[in-house]
Amino acid sequence: MSDSPVQQNTRPEAAAATTQLSGILRRVGMIGDMIDRSVGNADHPLRIQIERFDGPVQAVIDGRQTTLFGTNSYLGLNFDPRCIAAAEQALRQWGTGSTASRVASGNQDGHVALERTIAKFYDRPDAIVFSTGFMANMGTICGLASDGDLILYDSHCHASIIDACRASGATFKPFKHNDPVDLDRLLKEATVPASRILVVLEGLYSVWGDVGDVKGLATVAKDHGALVFVDEAHGLGLYGDNGRGVTEAQGAEHLVDAIVGTFSKSVGVIGGYCVTMHPALKSLRFLARAYLYTASLPPAVVASARTAIEIIASEPGLRAEMWRKAERFCLGVEALGYSLCAAPGPVGSIRMRGLVQGMDFWRDLLARGIYVNLLIPPATPAGEVLLRFSVSAAHTDADIDKFLDIMREMAPRAISA
Ligand code: PMP
Repeated sequence: MSDSPVQQNTRPEAAAATTQLSGILRRVGMIGDMIDRSVGNADHPLRIQIERFDGPVQAVIDGRQTTLFGTNSYLGLNFDPRCIAAAEQALRQWGTGSTASRVASGNQDGHVALERTIAKFYDRPDAIVFSTGFMANMGTICGLASDGDLILYDSHCHASIIDACRASGATFKPFKHNDPVDLDRLLKEATVPASRILVVLEGLYSVWGDVGDVKGLATVAKDHGALVFVDEAHGLGLYGDNGRGVTEAQGAEHLVDAIVGTFSKSVGVIGGYCVTMHPALKSLRFLARAYLYTASLPPAVVASARTAIEIIASEPGLRAEMWRKAERFCLGVEALGYSLCAAPGPVGSIRMRGLVQGMDFWRDLLARGIYVNLLIPPATPAGEVLLRFSVSAAHTDADIDKFLDIMREMAPRAISA
């Protein structure tokens, strides 16, 4: 096992084969070889393989019992017995997959019931369910904006949003992260009517773990007459009196035209959705290619998503428990002298000094039975190397103590220059 993140090429035959190719295959092959060389070992952030799960935040990795602080299972619902029972029952009754799109034979009672549950949860007339959060962003943004429109998006937005902007055919420009003044400047400079502008932002940004200024940005957008879209992928279930996200917590729901979210984090399965109060947006069912041209969610996923959303809506205590753990975790990390990118919250990052130190630190944590995410450029803003964590209601106080004890032992190495 080498200390360097860049390993010896373990597949020289692959590199030799690449040199014989031309054009697209050669370029793609060379990138593949390069990645292969740098991720040769099992203890590389891109090669983590979970051998067994023992609940939402405990697993066996490389033969070692490991506590997971990088799962996005904020509420632990992926192992909730009620969600598992709902999935089991749907699996037996409806089979393993839907085998078709929602507009063909893939529209089952469960999909419609899930949409009704989400619409009720958000107190909106309707909701549209997609097969992933990525596709919810793709389908909604491409369904809303096209040639001749302008999309202004927060510079820290997720890759699925950027890809959706590209695919939409609209012109798109970033505004400075969380900066209503910069958004205002771009809206004033725009050469298209405001009614053709879509402003896109997130509720909770999962790299730094900072909260979006949904109210400030949406107010500026509305002052100009633009449409507002918020991705609540990470905020769902964690913020707001009803758990609807940061938009709800900031009292900004009346300013937002479309809210998109995912089932792959607090809900514990996979899938995505869009809710809106505009009747015109029901047309998304016929315009969103990511809705039309892909298979609908498997019935077991649909049933557990619905159960999880009902739990989120009816059990605020779970959210409170997650917050208690998140604060304990973050305040503990800060007390040890580490630098967090944002205020304490359920997801966030600890700054590392550089790539080699970050990689070594991440590997040492793994060797001691702690898994977090290592984020490196270009996945991070400003070229930072970050240890990204997420805290779950399913963590015990003992799990957090274990993490803090290990971080205490490793602190001198991480903090001193
Ligand atoms: N939006 C944001 C902000 C995300 O972080 C993610 C996933 N990391 C997605 C969308 C995509 O969600 P999914 O995993 O459900 O495709």
